[in-house]
Formats: sequence, structure tokens, C-alpha cells
Amino acid sequence: MQNSKDLNKVHVLIVGAGPAGLAAAIHAKKNNPEFDVCVIDKAFGAGNHNLSGAVLEHEPLHSLLDSAADGWRESKEAKDVLAQTITSEIIPFMPSSKIVFDLLFVIKIAKWLGLGLGGMIHKGDYAVSISKLCKWLTRIARDAGVEVLYGFAAQDIIFDKNTGLTTGIKLVDQGLDKEGNKQPNYLAGDIINADFIILAEGCDGLLTEKLIEKAKLERKQPQLFSLGIKELIRVRPEQYQKFGANRVVHAMGYPIWTPILGPAIFGGGTIYPGTDNHLAVGMIVGADWKYYDFNPQDALTKFKDHKFVKQFIESGTIVESGAKLIPEGGFHAIPRDPQTNSIGKGNCLIIGDGAGFVNMLKIRGIHLAIDSGIQAATAIISSVADPETTAVKYTELIDKGLVGKEMKSAANYRQTIAKFGPTLGFPISIISNLLPKFTIEEDYKAMTEAKYKFKPQRNFDKDAFTAAAATEHREEEPCHLEILDIDTCEWECATKFDRPCITFCPAGVYEIVDGKAKAANPSNCLHCKTCQRKCPFDNIKWTVPEGGGGPRYRRM
Ligand code: SF4
Ligand code: SF4
Repeated sequence: MQNSKDLNKVHVLIVGAGPAGLAAAIHAKKNNPEFDVCVIDKAFGAGNHNLSGAVLEHEPLHSLLDSAADGWRESKEAKDVLAQTITSEIIPFMPSSKIVFDLLFVIKIAKWLGLGLGGMIHKGDYAVSISKLCKWLTRIARDAGVEVLYGFAAQDIIFDKNTGLTTGIKLVDQGLDKEGNKQPNYLAGDIINADFIILAEGCDGLLTEKLIEKAKLERKQPQLFSLGIKELIRVRPEQYQKFGANRVVHAMGYPIWTPILGPAIFGGGTIYPGTDNHLAVGMIVGADWKYYDFNPQDALTKFKDHKFVKQFIESGTIVESGAKLIPEGGFHAIPRDPQTNSIGKGNCLIIGDGAGFVNMLKIRGIHLAIDSGIQAATAIISSVADPETTAVKYTELIDKGLVGKEMKSAANYRQTIAKFGPTLGFPISIISNLLPKFTIEEDYKAMTEAKYKFKPQRNFDKDAFTAAAATEHREEEPCHLEILDIDTCEWECATKFDRPCITFCPAGVYEIVDGKAKAANPSNCLHCKTCQRKCPFDNIKWTVPEGGGGPRYRRM
């Protein structure tokens, strides 16, 4: 592995090797081969921290590869990653554990009428593994001459408030013990300086939030999140055939939303085809759930037990699992400079999920991530002489282009459901863009003392879940999860909500130790950041662990 000291100054530094960051790197290097372009990522290897459903609209990816990778359609990666083009889909509504009916015809009518909900049709898109996609894009980036470095975790961003420019990033220190003392293998985190910095960290990025604070960027509405839980299941060939290699399912209703009787949580279950008799089964739940005892993994279990789902996966073997947050706040939650409107500041740009580029009407964001990476590279190429104008140029490209168009079209959709709940919110959302901007609260404020009613018979096996995510950290490193005020846990949270972090953390990181809540198993952490956004007292801070830690997704 290259030492970061060799890289103490580069032209373009990209933090995060997801689809957005890699697209930016490939486009920048291909269009200006003189640039030193470097991508750093905290994961152990390519694709290890990338998890998504995932449905991918093809245009931005095709346009990136057509200009950057001759003959890419014939490559073995293209034939593997893009093997599944969606030709059919079902949008089941599940009012109970046994009943199901397909709403596709309603969505087709919505499309015919030109309503936003019509965007939920996925015919012609790819069903992909985003881990595999990122591995492939890493190879293309490296072939183009980009330095892509894994195991490099960034801890801070160096922003000069006098000039409004970002000069570099600081890597995390390695080799501290649990108490923070230096061990023999201690290595202070280097600083990597750069002319341009692109933050492509994905949802709820650490450096992105630091830039927002240091550069005083603002969101017009708070960012909202959903938690996605996913399992990749190897099923029998006849089950796979019955499901179909080119079909996707986006379900609504049970077990997270049953109109009138409740519960009422935004989201739904998904089933996507993989290759080699694998089906990816997922559950997406709005992080504004109000039930203090709700574990999203229980909802996944109940979804898998529904007779419609069970027929495809019964007796299957879980081969991989994982969890991550999805940014859902949409157009009004994009962080911008109040003076210039720029998404970023000066020579530092925020792209992809980090900026919140997910179109919730379509439930898709990877194509926007790739497009935003291309636009960021384009803006940088035209700003060599005046780097302080880069974020403004980038934002003009974003707002006038594909990303801006899609984000505006869904601007009020998720907020409408957050405001009115799914039962009223879904029908009202049809006219959401005609409604004024709502005042909505952060997800963590939504928790109440209400109980979730569909508890499965069996406890969810969180150990097996984390084992299938292959997550690990150095056992001796300092805990990267900070509970800010333990008294709040004991005197407010325990009595009111029974310490929900213990229930909702998908990796079982939090436990009661000596009568107190504690992040007892940080080495199990999946880096999903749910605790940071769902602790009802906003009492958890996720800091970055040493590079190379975390899950090791390969096919998610
Ligand atoms: Fe409650 Fe948050 Fe403390 Fe966990 S960390 S016990 S959720 S206040
Ligand atoms: Fe996710 Fe927090 Fe649990 Fe880590 S500790 S897996 S970030 S909820």
C-alpha cells in the first residue's frame, strides 16, 4: 500500500470510493491526464463499504464509461455487474401477513398521467450489486491512472475561513490503545493537501458534516433518513426461477404499515435478483419511526415470513448481510452556502449521497451519484485558474442538469409523508409539489412511548447478521462510538424509552454493562450511523475508527 506521505499534495483528492467518488475520479483523470487524482476510502478493499438495493438507471454510467473505458461492454465485469436488466416488476401492497395485491397498475396509471409516482417503474434499469459495481469502477479508475487507496480513514477537513478554501484532509491516527495511549505501532494521521477536494463519503459523511459546520453551509430542512437492512440469500434454483432473474419487487404495507390499525412507518420490503441463484431481500424503514421498542431487523423477519416472500426464499442460506442509512430529505435538505447557493464551498464539493442526491419518488440514487461525480469533475477542469469558483460552477451544472431536475420533482414527497404519516401522506404526496414547504423535525425527535406490535416469535440473531457482514475492527483501538452524556441514558432514556439503541442497532453494539448503556461491542459496528441519527436524545456521536475497519461487503 502506498504511504500517504508520498501523497502530501495532489491536484484532486476525493474522499470516498463509492459510485460518485469513482465517477468523479475517472472523469477528471480522463479529461485532464495531467491531474494527480487520488481517491481515499476507509474500507479494507474495493466495494467493502458499499451497500444498496440496488436499482441503477443506466444513462450516467453508460455516458461515463463510453468516454472513459473503450470496449467496456465486452468486459467480464460488465457482463457480471450488469447481467440483470429489469423486465418485470411487482409493487405488492400487503395489508396483512397473508394478503397481497399488486399495485403496479396504479403506478402505471400515475405514469400515464405524468404524476411523480410513475417514476417507481423500474423497467429497463439494472438490478446490481453496488459492491461489485464499485470494485469494477475502481479497476477502471486505476487503469486510467487514478490512485485509489483503501484503508485510509479521514478524520478532519482543513478549511481556511479567511480564504474560504479547503486545503486538505487529516487522516485518522492509527495504533492507539483503548484509552488513547500510543502503542509501538502508533502512526500519526498524515495530512493530504489538495487543490480541489471532493467529498463523496456517502450518507451522513463525517467530513461533510464538518465542512457544513466550518463553512457555515445550511440546509433549508433537516436531512431525513431511512435505514436499509439487507440479506443476500442463496435459494434453490427452482425458487430463483420462479422469482425470475429480471424481476424486482418493491412492497408496501405489512409489517411496517397497516392503514388505520397501525403501525405506521414509511418504507417497505424489497426483493432483487442477484446472479447464481441469489436473491437480495431488504427492508427499508423511515428513521422517523415512533416505536421505542422497534428493531428494523424484526420487520425484515416478518417480511420474510410473509407467504408472498417465503415462497421464494424458504430454506435458503444467508450468505451476506448488512445495513446502511439512506438520505431522504431531498431537495430542501441539500447543504448549500447561504451566500452563493453552492453545494460545497470554494474548491470543495459535496457529491452523491453525502449531498443527499436520492430521488425518493423513484427510490433511486446511484445514477444521480454518478452524474454528480461527472459534474464535479467537469467543474474542476474548468476552474484550474480560479479554484474559489468551483463549487458555484458545480452547483450550476447540478441545478440545471439531471440531478437538479429529479431532486426538484421529488422535493416535497418524503416530507409530506413525514408530516402526515404514511396513511394520509401517500395520497397527499400525489400533489406534494403543489404544497408549500413543510416544517419537519429531525428523525430522532419522532420517538414516543408507543410499542411496535408485530414482534416475531424469535429474537433476531444479530451475531449471525454481523458475521455475514464480515465486519471487524482492531479490538484494541479506541471506541469510535461516543455516548455524550451517560446521565441522560440513565435518568431520561432508560425510564422513558428503555434505551432503544440496544434494540435498534443492527449489529448489537450497545449493551447494558454494570447497569449502564455502553457501546460494548464497537468492533461489530457496520458504520450504518443509525445510532447517531436515531438516539432519541441525540446523545451518540459516531467518530471514525482506524482505516480498514468495518464491514467487508462483496456482493451487496
Ligand atoms: Fe438512550 Fe441514546 Fe443513551 Fe442509548 S445512547 S441509552 S438511545 S440516550
Ligand atoms: Fe450502526 Fe451505530 Fe450500530 Fe454501528 S453502532 S452498527 S453505526 S447503529
